[in-house]
Amino acid sequence: MASYEIIDFHTHAFPDALAERAIPALEREATQAGSDIKAFHGGKVSDLLHSMDEAGIERSVICSIATRPEQFESILRWSSEIASARIIPFPSIHPDDRDYQEHIRRIAGEGFRGVKFHPYYQEFYLAEDRMLPVYEALHEAGLMIVMHTGFDIAFERIRRCDPAQVIEVYARFPGIRLITTHLGAWEDWQEVRELLIGRPIYMELSFAVEFLGEGMREMMEAHPSEYLFFGSDSPWTGQAETLAAVRGLGLSDDLLEAVLSGNARRMLGL
Ligand SMILES: [Zn+2]
Repeated sequence: MASYEIIDFHTHAFPDALAERAIPALEREATQAGSDIKAFHGGKVSDLLHSMDEAGIERSVICSIATRPEQFESILRWSSEIASARIIPFPSIHPDDRDYQEHIRRIAGEGFRGVKFHPYYQEFYLAEDRMLPVYEALHEAGLMIVMHTGFDIAFERIRRCDPAQVIEVYARFPGIRLITTHLGAWEDWQEVRELLIGRPIYMELSFAVEFLGEGMREMMEAHPSEYLFFGSDSPWTGQAETLAAVRGLGLSDDLLEAVLSGNARRMLGL
């Protein structure tokens, strides 16, 4: 197998005391929205590490999402506790956080590499005015932004974070390290092809191969290779299964290595 370490740029986990409630609650939300989605593991960091061992994944980025501004402190504290060579936590800022500037300074000061946003769980639109100062502060602090993009399996199809808004934010902040998830925008891939593919826009790959199949290879090959990152969205997919599916696309060895390892290493400064 590969002689390089594999990095999963998009996973989720919860504090042990929370995982047993959080996973069934999130499954129920998805079921209510008409999507039968089941977690592949129990949602604890120990479950994720076990999944990584099974899949041959060396490191995972854990993306937390503050659904209320007050959750900043507890997410930051937990992120510090679980950070290790194998676990790279991205804390979270809520769009309504009045102390976002100080909080962004603390995130950067504690050595974290980025934050995660989710426009559905956090109720905002990607390119709306109130978000711009937040992106600016993150960009200036040298932090990456992992942004849920496209529709979401558990929510009504409102255009909260579509490719047109991705273009707007990139135009506003040249050089911003905003990583779109799900190959540019989940279930909005025709727009991704028209607006994002071929441009210097960072993309993570989870929840795409299951829907796009072979078509995914064509999109990836038409995109600048240094802008693509392997991600699974574990526990909502299996890491081993997603990895096998991406390997099965028939990408060149160089592109596969960039996607599974090199690009993430460079972005994370490893
Ligand atoms: Zn996710």
